[in-house]
Amino acid sequence: MATILIVDDQLDNLYVLQRLLKGHGYDVLTAENGPSALAIAAAQRPDLILLDVMMPEMDGFEVVQRLRDQPQTRSIPVVLLTANAPDERLKIQGLKLGADEYLTQPINNNELLARVQALLRTKRTQDELLGRNAQLAALLDIVQASTSTLDLAEVGQRLVSGALAASNMDLGGLWVLDGADLIALAQQGYSDELAETRRRIPIAESRVSARAMQRHEVIYGDARTLFGADSPMAEVARTIIVLPLMHRGTALGVLQLATREQRQFQAEELAFLGAIANAAAVAVQNARLYEESQRQRAELERLDREKDEFISIISHELKNPLASIKGYAGLLQRRARKDSTLQAAVKGLEVIEQQVNRMSTLLDQLRDVSQIGMDRFMIEPAPQDLAELTQRVALDMQATTTDHEIELHLRDEPLICAIDEFRMSQVLGNLISNAIKYSPAGGAIEVDVFRSDLPPHQPLDLANGSWAVVTVTDHGIGIPQDVQERLFQRFFRAPNTKGRVSGMGLGLYITREIVQRHNGYIWVESVENQGSTFGVALPLVEVEHTTQSADAPADESSPAVGASPS
Ligand code: ADP
Repeated sequence: MATILIVDDQLDNLYVLQRLLKGHGYDVLTAENGPSALAIAAAQRPDLILLDVMMPEMDGFEVVQRLRDQPQTRSIPVVLLTANAPDERLKIQGLKLGADEYLTQPINNNELLARVQALLRTKRTQDELLGRNAQLAALLDIVQASTSTLDLAEVGQRLVSGALAASNMDLGGLWVLDGADLIALAQQGYSDELAETRRRIPIAESRVSARAMQRHEVIYGDARTLFGADSPMAEVARTIIVLPLMHRGTALGVLQLATREQRQFQAEELAFLGAIANAAAVAVQNARLYEESQRQRAELERLDREKDEFISIISHELKNPLASIKGYAGLLQRRARKDSTLQAAVKGLEVIEQQVNRMSTLLDQLRDVSQIGMDRFMIEPAPQDLAELTQRVALDMQATTTDHEIELHLRDEPLICAIDEFRMSQVLGNLISNAIKYSPAGGAIEVDVFRSDLPPHQPLDLANGSWAVVTVTDHGIGIPQDVQERLFQRFFRAPNTKGRVSGMGLGLYITREIVQRHNGYIWVESVENQGSTFGVALPLVEVEHTTQSADAPADESSPAVGASPS
């Protein structure tokens, strides 16, 4: 039943009202002056206050004002009572200050009772709505906690504060099962000392939580009965509720909420707390899976680094014996050449040299890939003429083949870019050697070097400006359309190459890494069985205009270079 506080300095008035209300089943509190009314209202939170206006010391208007100023008493309905003749001005003043009704003497009992009932009804609905609102806000926070963060500790904190707010309880914590122990993800409202003793609880020592988890049931009741009269929990809490965190039929841990007051739980409230525990279980499970995946990822990254380290060491170590084999093969070759009886040996030694060179290139590629993987692949660019570098590389590459003719097309201008000479030679060498390798029938290989303000296939995110472009075109086996996008991936080899030409599928991957480190880009155009064009574009460096040297090539296009066999 509702509790009503009557405030009046006239004791006989108090008595009459008290009798009337008690007679209608209300619990009644009384106060004879303003200050004691405020104290009782704050401590006992009556459902309604009947307040006399005319009181010495503090009148009813001031009491209303103060009630409205305090959060605990702000929403208690107040009926002002006055013995004066009806006075509209006073009535409006009272209502303005926050009173809900204003009744003047002589007061009709039935009217008073009807007003009281109506106000209590409104108050109940309002309380219920406020409660629902708080619950919804808390539930929303819990749902957000389960989706917006994957940090297990943070999820725990937000779940516990949400659950406490929603259930209107004082202390709470979330524990998850870890082997034979319950580990606290979050605790709120406990003293540091108590929280510390409850950070890790062996399940064998926590009968209530163990039962909640084993039987999948919500346990609640008096703290002393549940935990024992001498338990520290019984000292800080009167009522405790323990909810298992169920996920797919398994208990992951418990949510424990407690209050210093004696408390009953209605079925509706239990269902709501159950929903919170379910949401908590999902959030905990998500955060745990995420932590596990992070751990696995870190482990994989560690293994990957270890693998790169291993490849780097191995490729380095193998280079030394290879260099020594190469040295001796060269020495023997020179001697054998002088002896006409050793022609067969010369042939064999040439094959050894070729194979050693191939092996050396493969080892270099492996080392480069491992360096890229370990983020240790660096370039040291300096301004240099890309046209001149391309000419040199083309000449060297021509020396490796007699079946192909490298046609170099240069324009009559230097193309100065910021270039790491060694690495860019590797890029050009790789593109030309692929053109040779994948044109088994031989033929022409065109190498074009030019300047462009709008080079082909320019990615949108790269700055505009002038570019130096090198394209390498062959008329070989070409690349099937559907795999062209994947050519620059590690270890990728087109299906039409496998079994025909040997390789590891690393050259283009390294090539692209190098080009990108030069702030450039690479592209391919190809038609299967007709041939391919690979292009590289590097940003030109702005240089002071220099006069052309007299011996710079003046032709639009130079003839084939290095056609002589080695
Ligand atoms: P590798 O040549 O060692 O296999 P690359 O990374 O240099 O490795 O090349 C990857 C793949 O791209 C090759 O296996 C081949 O299938 C294809 N490819 C590269 N260049 C050409 C080319 N000029 N013509 C045809 N296919 C090519």
